Amino acid sequence: MPYVYDDQNIFAKILRGEIPNNTVLDTEYALAFHDIQPQRPVHVLVIPKGPYVSYDHFAKEASDAEIVGFTRAIGQVCDMMGVSIDAGDGYRMIANSGEHGVQDVPHLHAHIMGGASTGRMIQS
Ligand code: 5GP
Repeated sequence: MPYVYDDQNIFAKILRGEIPNNTVLDTEYALAFHDIQPQRPVHVLVIPKGPYVSYDHFAKEASDAEIVGFTRAIGQVCDMMGVSIDAGDGYRMIANSGEHGVQDVPHLHAHIMGGASTGRMIQS
């Protein structure tokens, strides 16, 4: 089945400026903003600006420039939030995808969570 991108999802609306966000970083290829319901002291969402549903979609169909731009943005956000391994205490990066990944918003997003231990990865 082909990937289907719903341009009415909430992150598409954020990218279009239709709803506000608390921006951390805005680049040519990525936007990073604070999660509206943070689950750790640091909880930032990093999204590509292109219409990709999930990481597998992005990995297969995004251009090299988009992939580099998104990846570099994640590195910058880790530095900006003080959670990078070289200068901070680390973080968990999660990209929930699809039904079994329990993804709520169907626009690729990387959760960057830190500032406190994120515990074991799988709890159930
Ligand atoms: P998912 O379950 O899709 O991996 O995560 C979606 C995340 O988006 C959740 O952590 C949720 O709190 C966050 N979220 C949902 N709506 C909004 C919104 O309007 N603004 C922001 N900043 N975060 C949102």
